[in-house]
Amino acid sequence: MEPLQFILEAREQRANLKNQKTLKGIPCVSLSLNVPGFPKSNSITDAFFSLCLTELKYFMKAHLVELQIKEAIEKCDAVGNFFIVSCSIEIKSLPWLKQICEEFEENHSLGRFIDVDLNDEQGNTISSGKSKLCFFCQDKPAIECRRENTHDPELLRSFMFSKMAGYCNQNREYTIVKQLSSLGLKALLYEISLTPKPGLVDKFSNGSHQDMNYQTFIDSSSAISPYFMELVSAGFSFQNSDLTKALPIVRNLGLRMESAMYDATSNVNTQKGLIFLMGLSLFACGKVFSQSDQFDVEQFKFVIREICKNLVSNELTGSFQSNSIQTKSHGESIYQKYGFSGARGEAESGFQTVFDFGLPLLAGDAKLNDEAMIRSFLSIAAHNNDTNILYRGGLQTLSIFQGLCKTALDNFTDQNYSALTDYCNKENISPGGSADLLAVTLFIWSIMNETFLPFIQNK
Ligand SMILES: [Zn+2]
Repeated sequence: MEPLQFILEAREQRANLKNQKTLKGIPCVSLSLNVPGFPKSNSITDAFFSLCLTELKYFMKAHLVELQIKEAIEKCDAVGNFFIVSCSIEIKSLPWLKQICEEFEENHSLGRFIDVDLNDEQGNTISSGKSKLCFFCQDKPAIECRRENTHDPELLRSFMFSKMAGYCNQNREYTIVKQLSSLGLKALLYEISLTPKPGLVDKFSNGSHQDMNYQTFIDSSSAISPYFMELVSAGFSFQNSDLTKALPIVRNLGLRMESAMYDATSNVNTQKGLIFLMGLSLFACGKVFSQSDQFDVEQFKFVIREICKNLVSNELTGSFQSNSIQTKSHGESIYQKYGFSGARGEAESGFQTVFDFGLPLLAGDAKLNDEAMIRSFLSIAAHNNDTNILYRGGLQTLSIFQGLCKTALDNFTDQNYSALTDYCNKENISPGGSADLLAVTLFIWSIMNETFLPFIQNK
């Protein structure tokens, strides 16, 4: 059969479907795409149609139009992608519903590719009488360009498919940005809520802290999380091949987050280290997903390492040599005193502690649970030269702390875990750096266990 014959047959089937639906005396709404030429569908139209359909369902529901979704028919035939559904009988009036259908097309950025049709109880198509402009020249009515074959069909098709693919990929990016920022916040909240934790703030204890509690962390997490989407988006749109140029971008957003944190906590530093590590992670994820369909762990490590190239020598060694009178940060004085590079060193290594010690302890779990998270924390803390502990306690205290973590990990008993907690209380130390690395570990684990939308290729 010739394509035309297939199309005619499919058109007849559609008309029959509309009649069947309306035979029950109920109006029906249908969705289809205006694809010129043949074939009328491909992987791009499939993806675009599926997005439009979801949007249409929400749009109708938001206007309190009840669709009988269970009896709806979705198919793809020679005329292309098609969806038809009966409305509930309680609609206000057909002209009103027709207006809703038109509003959907008019508000959609690619509305001229979309047809939302309405058929009355007898199966007649309800027309508004308005003529649509041609989507290509945007000059003459569409019907005129079609009748006169004004434009080359192949040109029309490639224009349309590239717009549709662009729309789908934009939607993909927005969806991934939302997913990643949600996983980022989840990681923070899981880490804060993990109870009991040695020396750290948790649900029931302030650990070795006098100026903050569980609520302070909820306050600062709520204050910084609105920036997560921005960080991922910045990673998506970063084009420079020199990734070190990304550091000021991440830092710019990080400084704003710090300021939001201090405002929310009355000047208590709850999450400064975390802001740095999560900021980098969120940005790097955006960059990875802008190039790859899936979360490529090696690519993620590479991006982090490249962004933070020479960070330790530039920022820790530099200030050490300059003999500046400026007040040194904790990180700088620790590096000067002990040679441990803290969060900067961890970032420059591409999160070695996270990947070598944190993640392997969660690898076998399909769902995060308290025991697995505590084991992962212990493994991180046993190997991390935590600058928070060094600052408050010194080298020997860190060494004893790490030993207790290792014992508790090797022999996971309440007694060994309590010995660790007691030691932190006695020495008034808090492994905040390791807690930050646990949050990053939980974030990476969550990404590895999440499904993400693929690119729509415009071949
Ligand atoms: Zn035209």
